[in-house]
Amino acid sequence: MELYSTTAILLRRISYGDHDLIISYFSWDQGKISLMAKSARKSRRRFGGCLEILSLSRLICRKGRGKLCLLEESALQQPFSSLRSDIRKLSYASYWAELLYLWLQENSPQEELYRLLLFVLESLENGSMPPEILHLLFQMKFMQISGFAPNLSNCCCCRKPVSESKEIHYAFHLAGGGPLCSSCREKQPGPRVLLSKGSGNQLRWLGNSPLETAGRLRFSPQSVKESQHFLEAFLPCHLGCTPRSLQFLQQLRKEGFPFS
Ligand SMILES: [Zn+2]
Repeated sequence: MELYSTTAILLRRISYGDHDLIISYFSWDQGKISLMAKSARKSRRRFGGCLEILSLSRLICRKGRGKLCLLEESALQQPFSSLRSDIRKLSYASYWAELLYLWLQENSPQEELYRLLLFVLESLENGSMPPEILHLLFQMKFMQISGFAPNLSNCCCCRKPVSESKEIHYAFHLAGGGPLCSSCREKQPGPRVLLSKGSGNQLRWLGNSPLETAGRLRFSPQSVKESQHFLEAFLPCHLGCTPRSLQFLQQLRKEGFPFS
């Protein structure tokens, strides 16, 4: 049976029977892959720390007769160990992992999304950017690469540019994927989120800039708060579900990340 190797980040693991695990990885050259790790629950030594969520490992896999390939060997390359000791970091990163797990197709490479995940995990690990800013960056880039970035420039109904409005805030229409100008606001039914023009411009800049320059942008605490609120409403609306890890993150945030 054929062997292959790849480098991948662990997105999700679930128990299978008494001894095994089914693990979903994000591989740089194969996209999402699901593997069976035989006896992983029986012997912790067999795969070492490679089975921690969001760890980066080199894998050797075997294509079997069944649908799932088998994980034969793994070598840990980057454990991102600060996630294990910081509930704030872990709760943000778990949400990013779940979004990718829900969005990615099996065996369909997504190199740009892989580079994005690696960048935000490395930045989280080395502390070069606060988790809240990485969270905004990840969501904007994720939507842009995946083809459903929000329109933050024109009224989604009449196309009037937002820049022509004297209003400081606009009502973002979730289903329409864009803001509503004052004339169209009453005509369009459906949920909307209030967003200031300044925060909208900053988010647009984050989405359009190279990853390496994203840290230059300074968000005020108020702008972080309303941008979070906006993205965490818009993204699940277009994904068609609310990830469980988002509810967990929002609950912890409300409690002020009590275990940090
Ligand atoms: Zn309009």
